[in-house]
Amino acid sequence: MGTQRVDTLIIGAGMSGLAAGIRLAQFAEGPGTVAILERHALPGGLNSYYKRRGRRLDTGLHALTNFAERGTRGAPLTRMLRQLRIGWEELRLAPQGHSQICFPDLTLRFSNDFALLEQEVARAFPSQVDAFRTLAARIAEMPLEPVLENDPGARAVLTDIFTEPLLIEALMLPACYYGSARVNDMYWGSFAILFRSLFLEGFALPEGGIKPLLDILVKRFEEAGGELRMNCGVASINVEGGRVQGVVLDNGDTIQCERILSSAGWVETARLADFPERAADDAGQLAFTETLLVLDRPAHTFGLDAAVTFYNLDDCFDWSPPTAAVGTRSGVLCSPDNYTWPAGAAERAPDSGLVRATALANHSAWSSMEEQRYATQKIHWAELVLDAASTFVPDPRPFELWRDSFTPNTITRYTGHDHGAIYGSPDKRPDGRTGVEGLYLCGTDQGLLGIVGALLSGITMANAHVLAAPSHS
Ligand SMILES: Cc1cc2nc3c(=O)[nH]c(=O)nc-3n(C[C@H](O)[C@H](O)[C@H](O)COP(=O)(O)OP(=O)(O)OC[C@H]3O[C@@H](n4cnc5c(N)ncnc54)[C@H](O)[C@@H]3O)c2cc1C
Repeated sequence: MGTQRVDTLIIGAGMSGLAAGIRLAQFAEGPGTVAILERHALPGGLNSYYKRRGRRLDTGLHALTNFAERGTRGAPLTRMLRQLRIGWEELRLAPQGHSQICFPDLTLRFSNDFALLEQEVARAFPSQVDAFRTLAARIAEMPLEPVLENDPGARAVLTDIFTEPLLIEALMLPACYYGSARVNDMYWGSFAILFRSLFLEGFALPEGGIKPLLDILVKRFEEAGGELRMNCGVASINVEGGRVQGVVLDNGDTIQCERILSSAGWVETARLADFPERAADDAGQLAFTETLLVLDRPAHTFGLDAAVTFYNLDDCFDWSPPTAAVGTRSGVLCSPDNYTWPAGAAERAPDSGLVRATALANHSAWSSMEEQRYATQKIHWAELVLDAASTFVPDPRPFELWRDSFTPNTITRYTGHDHGAIYGSPDKRPDGRTGVEGLYLCGTDQGLLGIVGALLSGITMANAHVLAAPSHS
């Protein structure tokens, strides 16, 4: 690494770590100011990419939520881009056509125009539409940062507002799938952030998937003088007298520092710093399995035309770890084919067909499986998930060329998150503090959600704990 003393170390080159790094590098006063340490060979963490059969696949990209048109004032996307000095047009965003929420006797379509969802609610729940408008107006006024203190829980708030239980389930389904670490509920503050990012703003995809966005972030960081060290895991964090001193790397080297921003997660960071007892009960339990089907044609050509379909096989939505290896009663099916791609974009090519099927998974069932059974179980459960999804949308399997699946084990292996918990710990820490001076969290466990949320989290934590710190003013 050249220098073995760095002012600020960032653990993890996922979205939040890269954003924090860019922010700090922009204000750096020479070399040795900021370094990102990433255990893996590729950046992106939960939202990275890999290659199979010559095709690049995104690991986690369903949709970039929080879509906003160029220059939309006050929007999280605008704010994030401004702070990172990235031009809106650099992302080459394609907006969704529409998405949908499906229950046995209910379909609610929504798009990047909130009026569509409002009309759908008015059609399906005429007695609830005024309350729905009031809810949307209330959420639009709420802060963009997570406020989770004395949080009543989303279900309690929605039950006060609506008298139709099915509408509550229909709103909880997408919100939980895109951001709840809490079993059968979520923070009201998180629900509001999700409602804004899914329904008031909407979905887009960056042309070419997640890699071009990661390339921009890495380039910005390195051009500003930051040091990115890949294949460089942090084995432990040294704390003395309640203050951070530095880290020990997987290879045994040590680096001294003033402070650390960790995107490894709350429980994982507590373990690195050797105070696991403080986070003992906080490990997340909600994990996913996902199957990617590569098709011989775009999904919309056989009638699968929604960008994202959230579905539930019953009238009640159960957001808890399944007792079996996979929960097939609900899930998400999405396809990058259903975005409005500019002429000439790669996703328009005739062989562009891709569908992802996501469902809840039981991490301990997968982590205790021996190798051969693991392989056969992946095939078995993928079929059941696709059977369930095909209750609501045309079955993509007749057009399948090949497929790939991942489980909670894969997520743990590539991101280090305990239990493969996508949304981390249910105990969020909005101020990023850990109880150790100089050690702060950024990313998922700070409470901001998704790609734009994680990027904003990195920015906010860098601003609050480094740039606004007395030594910087
Ligand atoms: C299947 C799936 C689908 C998703 N779909 C979407 C979507 O469509 N839209 C959306 O907005 N969001 C989506 N998300 C969520 C989104 O990916 C995350 O919210 C966001 O990327 C989290 O970023 P982060 O920086 O907080 O954490 P991470 O991405 O987890 O980054 C943490 C990084 O730290 C590294 N690390 C951990 N421990 C160490 C260590 N000891 N030493 C060095 N490095 C370490 C990890 O390798 C990792 O790179 C999805 C996630 C998954 C898994």
